Amino acid sequence: MIENPMEKFTRRNFLTTATKFLAGAAVFGFMPNFAEAAEKVIYLEEKPLSAIDFTKEVLPFDIPQISKFQTLSELNIPAPKLKFVGTMDQRRLTTAIVLHHAGLKQDKDSTLKEIHKMHLGNGWSGVGYHFLVHKNGAIEHARPLDRVGAHAYRHNSYSVGICMTGNFEIGVPPTEQILETEKLIAALCQHYYINPSMTTIFGHRDLCDTDCPGYNVYPRLSEIIGNVKAIL
Ligand SMILES: [Zn+2]
Repeated sequence: MIENPMEKFTRRNFLTTATKFLAGAAVFGFMPNFAEAAEKVIYLEEKPLSAIDFTKEVLPFDIPQISKFQTLSELNIPAPKLKFVGTMDQRRLTTAIVLHHAGLKQDKDSTLKEIHKMHLGNGWSGVGYHFLVHKNGAIEHARPLDRVGAHAYRHNSYSVGICMTGNFEIGVPPTEQILETEKLIAALCQHYYINPSMTTIFGHRDLCDTDCPGYNVYPRLSEIIGNVKAIL
């Protein structure tokens, strides 16, 4: 049966708005985030949100099930040496995970160094995401996990940011990239006691004025969450 995507979108919007309100009240009530103010500039440069065109075909791709749960340490994720500028506040609350695509002009892989350099160029401390998941499925640590990220303006103080390389407005993630992203989300949910749902795992566009994580991936977020839920 084909689900009505408009209905799904509306329901999702209601849930995320309610969650954002609660999270915002919890976070801003007692935890001003100065680091986030300093790193604001990039979000003003992002491509503005366009309306979802439900008549345009979403490119198909595989969202495989996870066959074996692995903890964050079992995933054995390398942490390349990056030089950050200044200090980054410690994140004291982690209740959400935000999924991004790199969203550059072409749908191709990017190196961590490239993204780090780009974000430094925005006047930030360095790469704003906590993880990068490459097209071949390789995961890398980016910004230190315990620090406030710079990936979802006004929502950084309570969230972890994962970036899949590529541009999913025009392309789709390879199976390896989606599978490793699912494994990473599952490991983070276990690590931070997050119950995976549409009110805890977000696409960037749920929270900010952007098309990220792209036209082809965003509508499939509930399937990704379903696979994460199934393995926990
Ligand atoms: Zn994004």
